Amino acid sequence: MGSGEGIRRNQALICAPLMADTVDQMVDLMHKAKSKGADIVEIRLDHLKIFNPRSDIEIMIKVCPLPTLFTYRPIWEGGQYAGDEKSRFEALQLAMELGADHIDIELKAAHEFNNFLHGNKPGKCKVIISSHNYASTPPIEDLGNLVARIQAAGADIIKFATTALDITDVARVFQITVHSQVPIIAMVMGERGLMSRILCPKFGGYLTFGSLEAGQVSAPGQPTIEELVNLYNFRLLEPDTKVFGIIGNPVSHSKSPKLYNEAFKSVGFNGVYLHLLVDDVPKFFRTYSSMDFTGFSVTIPHKEAALACCDEVDPVAKSIGAVNCVVRRPDGKLFGCNTDYVGAISSIEDGLLGLQNGSTGTGSPLARKLFVVIGAGGAGKALAYGAKEKGARVLIANRTYDRARELADLVGGQALSLAELDNFRPEKGMILANTTSIGMHPKVNETPISKEALANYMLVFDAVYTPKITRLLREAAESGAQIVTGVDMFIGQAYEQYERFTGLPAPKEQFKKIMEN
Ligand code: NAP
Repeated sequence: MGSGEGIRRNQALICAPLMADTVDQMVDLMHKAKSKGADIVEIRLDHLKIFNPRSDIEIMIKVCPLPTLFTYRPIWEGGQYAGDEKSRFEALQLAMELGADHIDIELKAAHEFNNFLHGNKPGKCKVIISSHNYASTPPIEDLGNLVARIQAAGADIIKFATTALDITDVARVFQITVHSQVPIIAMVMGERGLMSRILCPKFGGYLTFGSLEAGQVSAPGQPTIEELVNLYNFRLLEPDTKVFGIIGNPVSHSKSPKLYNEAFKSVGFNGVYLHLLVDDVPKFFRTYSSMDFTGFSVTIPHKEAALACCDEVDPVAKSIGAVNCVVRRPDGKLFGCNTDYVGAISSIEDGLLGLQNGSTGTGSPLARKLFVVIGAGGAGKALAYGAKEKGARVLIANRTYDRARELADLVGGQALSLAELDNFRPEKGMILANTTSIGMHPKVNETPISKEALANYMLVFDAVYTPKITRLLREAAESGAQIVTGVDMFIGQAYEQYERFTGLPAPKEQFKKIMEN
């Protein structure tokens, strides 16, 4: 059964672009596309190394298990075809006559192609007139004019693809899509444009492109069919689907979309959670200010900038100076809070209780312990503030000493530069919390402290969660310390964010199971 089968709440199609050297390979890919859950295939004739238009197109239409779209993209529009226009038009005309469901012709060639056809267009075939901008996304007026020109050229379906220089470029494309009177395919290429591809059903797009395999894309930023269907629940999206996401840079590594989208699907919550590659946080919030954009997780390097964008901030987050969760209230105002603090501290307390065989005594097991925080960013502040709240003695070690000093002053603790940490061994039984990205994939061989220095710590926590067991944690365990992973923190903070986003209790067991996998 194709992974695309099951409940559908929208009409938007998933189109698999097929790029192969031979017709046989193209046919294999058609079947693969169907098994992966595509609705339609785009046959990129310009990729065929040997091509006999009449026989090859006839075979491909005959054997294709899905509706077809034939594209014969010339080099001057980003494709591979280097021949003359007459041969190209003849092949496309042939595809129309032989039963293609769609053909694609570029706006720049549409007038000439229309003349070539002399009005002889088979009724069944829909003509997509397309325009590609590999440099930028023009202003809204220019996009409006472009769409009008495509429509005037006789398009059954309008297609334009632009390039995202900033995630806010996508908003203009949504505005055009939602108001189009003619079926429209509107994509913004590049990682910053990913949202345009996933939210196509929400804004009424005709189709989105999904690649068969990661990396085998016909345009930058294309997700796989598998990601569209299974990670982002593409089939379930509707015009009133609420949009959530993780704001960061980089952000593509984040596991949050998997966690939230699976949970949304299992309880039937009408929301979608996206990777949002954001450069300018205030601009992002100014642009996506409608009630549809409902809740955001915030990660590196935006936790402090996001706080400044909130209309109201939870007092704990205010003291930490960073938010990792922003929710749009029913009155449209942005409310920011920090759930890192809860997630991390409770995981560390659980770890210490494990060491003490569950005996809690009175108060937190963190009380009076020397708690060393590496890092002074968003997560560092959350950990330092949380440890202080629990009665620990806090020390901050940071690459930039001044930031360590600043945070230490805020929580009434000591400060060190990161370079001094290896020789800092005042007592045994300390707690260490790495809150920098040192050791994070792909730089998995890095660690913030030497193994020798770890002997003085009874518990070591690492906020990094890709990989789950970092070099720091591995060496800490080898040195006899209890370890607490960034995955534990991640799950803890996600429980609270989920509840704030949805108003529903977090499916804790489901979250744990997803993260275990
Ligand atoms: P942030 O605000 O950008 O802070 C980064 C901190 O790391 C700063 O103190 C910075 O030092 C330091 N740093 C960065 N690169 C460094 C390097 N190469 N060498 C030494 N120090 C370096 O980031 P954040 O939001 O706090 O996140 C930090 C880490 O925590 C990330 O790996 C993130 O994935 C992880 N995290 C995990 C969870 C979870 O749920 N497990 C939650 C939140 C964050 P300077 O001040 O000198 O620049």
